[in-house]
Amino acid sequence: MTDILVVGGGPIGCYTAYLLARAGLSVDILEEHHRIGKPDHCTGIVGKNLFTDFDVPESLIHNRIKEFKVYSPSGIELLLPAHIEVFALDRPSLDLYLATLAQGAGARLHLETCAKNISEDSGVVTVTANQKDNKRKIKFCSKVAVLATGALSKLPYQAGLGRSPDSLGSVQVEAEVKDLNGAEIFLGRDIAPGSFAYAVGLDEHTAKIGVISRGRSRQCFENLLEHPRLKPRIIDILTEPQARRMPLGHAPSTVKGHILSVGDAAGQVKSTTGGGLYYGLKCATLLAETIIDSGGPQGFSKTRLAGYEKKWKRHFGKEIFWGKMVRDIFSDINDDQLERLVSLLNSSELKNIVNNTADYDSHQRLIIKVLSVPGMKSLLWDMARESLNHKNIMKRLGQHLRKDTEEID
Ligand SMILES: Cc1cc2nc3c(=O)[nH]c(=O)nc-3n(C[C@H](O)[C@H](O)[C@H](O)COP(=O)(O)OP(=O)(O)OC[C@H]3O[C@@H](n4cnc5c(N)ncnc54)[C@H](O)[C@@H]3O)c2cc1C
Repeated sequence: MTDILVVGGGPIGCYTAYLLARAGLSVDILEEHHRIGKPDHCTGIVGKNLFTDFDVPESLIHNRIKEFKVYSPSGIELLLPAHIEVFALDRPSLDLYLATLAQGAGARLHLETCAKNISEDSGVVTVTANQKDNKRKIKFCSKVAVLATGALSKLPYQAGLGRSPDSLGSVQVEAEVKDLNGAEIFLGRDIAPGSFAYAVGLDEHTAKIGVISRGRSRQCFENLLEHPRLKPRIIDILTEPQARRMPLGHAPSTVKGHILSVGDAAGQVKSTTGGGLYYGLKCATLLAETIIDSGGPQGFSKTRLAGYEKKWKRHFGKEIFWGKMVRDIFSDINDDQLERLVSLLNSSELKNIVNNTADYDSHQRLIIKVLSVPGMKSLLWDMARESLNHKNIMKRLGQHLRKDTEEID
């Protein structure tokens, strides 16, 4: 029986496996695909912290993003200050790098191995898996199992942990482009209802182009490709469109007995942008520390393992809450309201707040400051007049703003 079974060979599963194997535990990783890092669904935008806080080398950076432009539905352009260091990294290479680290530390990687069932009995976790296109069934037993299966897997449900309460759809491709160096955000109900679409330059000639939307993601993606500000700069689409779900909000529970979840499987994602690499790697670190501290001659203590949930929520619970609040507030926004939002963001008052408060990986403070500006409040109340659902959100917002404003001041 192995000490730790990690299900999911994405970046968060591999990093967890690396930390645990490095501490001398026996670790197996199960990955359903035949290679690590593909298919690539992620834009790979990260802040400086990813390179300073974890074992991630800067050689994986494609491009430093020097400019952020936002286009309102009518085409009004807003240039956001880029004083924060933001990078586009080579996401498939990050996954490969972390998988190699894990293997170098002694973890065993099982490719083409898809976990189908998980259960725990008398302190032993059993996972049954199909290998090599269902040609072979195999059983793994471990003292602890880590579910790092991403946003879509049923395993966290089966284990009694549950999944994020909400999610958005996304479609992304890599394209050959010209004159696209920074990051550009496109707003509008035809392109990304309740969310945004984007084009991010990876180098002089290539970009990732995609939509994140509440519905109709494929249609929205087709509309994005026709956008007058984007279409003339697309030379060729280089990859098949990748469709994914992006979790909004964390799972109801992330520990049950000796089974724990981490990364997208736990909903440890910034609901504002959908970025999950920094939160996921930080939670992987907290998870590995907890597992290592809970081990002893009697095996791994369930009471100590349960402490993982408190630890990661202390770091990210409020962040995820406020990100989800922003998503709820703006999920029904129409194009006129988006125009108002963009011109508010263009005002010197809001530009000052963004300049003084923005942090790439931590948004709670910025959100609270921005939502407290009178012009923003008046926009939100106008939105609330049009929808009962929005009135309820505004009630919740008022309660939490009062409480958390004191905390950040
Ligand atoms: C369109 C889009 C753009 C994004 N852009 C960014 C960005 O710019 N910056 C950022 O920080 N984040 C971004 N993210 C989020 C980021 O991609 C995720 O947070 C990150 O991939 C989470 O890593 P993970 O290891 O938890 O999950 P995943 O990367 O999804 O990896 C899970 C792995 O588990 C495997 N697996 C699943 N089920 C099983 C099973 N039953 N058996 C065996 N293997 C299994 C999968 O094959 C996969 O390899 C984006 C997400 C989307 C959808």
